[in-house]
Amino acid sequence: QEAVRATPETRVARPDPVERINPTPTEADLRAAVNAGDIRVAYQPKARCRSGTLAGFEALARWDHPDHGNIPPDVFVPIAETSGLIDRLTLQVASQALRWLADLPGEVRTGDQNDPVLNRLQLSLNISARTLNNRALFDELAAICRKNRVPLDRVILELTETSAMEDAAVSLNTLTHLRLQGFSLSIDDFGTGYSSMIQLVRMPFSEIKIDKSFVMTAMNSSESRAVVRSVVDLGRSLGLETTAEGVEDEETMRYLKSLSCDIAQGYLISRPLFAEDIPAWYVERRAK
Ligand code: C2E
Ligand code: CA
Ligand code: CA
Ligand code: CA
Repeated sequence: QEAVRATPETRVARPDPVERINPTPTEADLRAAVNAGDIRVAYQPKARCRSGTLAGFEALARWDHPDHGNIPPDVFVPIAETSGLIDRLTLQVASQALRWLADLPGEVRTGDQNDPVLNRLQLSLNISARTLNNRALFDELAAICRKNRVPLDRVILELTETSAMEDAAVSLNTLTHLRLQGFSLSIDDFGTGYSSMIQLVRMPFSEIKIDKSFVMTAMNSSESRAVVRSVVDLGRSLGLETTAEGVEDEETMRYLKSLSCDIAQGYLISRPLFAEDIPAWYVERRAK
């Protein structure tokens, strides 16, 4: 299982226990890292439940701090949000990821020059609530896509349920604009917020992502299964794709298939991978 061993989480040293007690980097550290272009992107595959076909990747920011080691995005993204660095971070992640996506078919040698899977992969980008009001950023994002010749409908912007509902009127406006521009839109962490279903349903999403807290516990909890089942049903009734994140074992995968969930993402398929590890991972997976 070479592909599993070569993941960023295992390859890059974790912070030692002393540092883990106080791993909070300062805003100045983060600013320096963003300025230096030290934020890297890891890519986590998403696969179709029914066929196993690779559907795309989610871009996840990674920061390997010289003193603290790997700082989790759950720690540095909030710092970026409060210090006004988030838009630059988003653009750095997006431009790295789109350049990578555009080059990928040429880097993977499967013997199939026009591998239809590789040429149609989607890329999911996480968009912070703070960014939602910044139309200029989305114009830049669209420009980055054009520069890399990636059609906008292959780019999925993931917004958390809570961020989309912070100001529902503004969101509806912005999301409609983005959708008309051509981006695909996803509701991330679905099930963790308390949004009004009626308002959500009116928004132009193309995908619902069931939060991993429900998916990871589905096999041990009838409550979690009830949530997963209802969200898959909701997605189907609304004509949205449903993605389950946090799929860690075969049993959960079989359950999702039985519900006709569309897409799965999680350690079972792969941990997030750095770009250099993906060609080998893809070739090995295709050979199975
Ligand atoms: P998220 O968007 O919900 O991303 C999914 C998280 O679940 C990722 O954590 C991923 O590594 C993890 N994960 C995936 N599959 C499994 C699994 O099977 N089991 C378990 N236990 N975990 C799994 P990660 O990379 O640490 O990211 C955490 C959060 O940081 C993300 O949650 C997202 O909210 C935020 N984030 C990451 N990159 C960016 C970014 O570029 N921009 C913004 N705004 N937020 C980001
Ligand atoms: Ca996400
Ligand atoms: Ca999520
Ligand atoms: Ca999350």
